[in-house]
Amino acid sequence: MKIPISITQAEIQKIYKPINPHTHKGIQGHAAIIAGSYGKIGAAVLASRACIKSGCGLVTTLIPKCGYEILQSTIPEVMVVTTTHEKYISEIIFDIEPKAVGIGPGIGQEPNTQKAFYEFLKTNKKPLVIDADALNILSNNNSWLNLLQSETILTPHPKELERLIGSWKSDQEKFEKTIEFSKQYQVIIVMKGAPTHIVNSKNVDENTTGNAALATAGSGDVLTGIITSLLAQGYSPIQAAQLGVYIHGLTADIALPETGYQSFIASDIIANLGKAFL
Ligand code: AMP
Ligand code: MG
Repeated sequence: MKIPISITQAEIQKIYKPINPHTHKGIQGHAAIIAGSYGKIGAAVLASRACIKSGCGLVTTLIPKCGYEILQSTIPEVMVVTTTHEKYISEIIFDIEPKAVGIGPGIGQEPNTQKAFYEFLKTNKKPLVIDADALNILSNNNSWLNLLQSETILTPHPKELERLIGSWKSDQEKFEKTIEFSKQYQVIIVMKGAPTHIVNSKNVDENTTGNAALATAGSGDVLTGIITSLLAQGYSPIQAAQLGVYIHGLTADIALPETGYQSFIASDIIANLGKAFL
């Protein structure tokens, strides 16, 4: 088995690209977030806000109709497109050409949402982050994994990973199965946990930031927004995954002296993104 290699701060600093002083929002990249359903519009808010706060120039978020006013009033910086169905994503149609897409936080598993996701996968050529219920939909429809572009980023937490690759008896078996899965489908797997590992067909990298404060609702939704933003800015998928996971964890390390473990919430990740990037 490949031994996980720790990702150092020096390596992250090599990946990180300072912002060009002559850039404009068009050059900074347009990201799309597909998220939310009735009762889980917060997931779309968190992912979208994290996305715009991580450096891309524009964000368009696709949500079910019921989230329209919530998104427009909580994040005026983000553009909103709604589906025809009131409560869940019933089709995936954009009036823009995003540079990268993040899909999954809070979308649920309505049959129409599943169908919309399938139609999207059939034609999507953009760099893509798949999270949460979009991963669960894939687990229930294994053959759709063959539709994924190479270097698609999957971000499962342990339960989502188990649904994707099956159960394991030891850490070694978990890594072996995940590496095998990443080779078979040519995808990058962000194995979220404490610590998070980033697996591609060549390497297993271990993140070195973050703490138990991140064990809180919405934490993963924020990560999806960060990584999607980095993809839209032109980072390669493996770089976006490594830098995104590192920055996400670093926000919790920065905030901990002020919030403690108990009072840190997903919005605190977003609030500390600026300091983490600096
Ligand atoms: P999710 O379960 O999708 O909300 O994702 C949770 C996020 O928080 C992932 O990025 C995890 O790696 C991170 N996380 C959760 N618990 C811990 C922990 N005890 N230590 C460090 N990171 C954690
Ligand atoms: Mg999650």
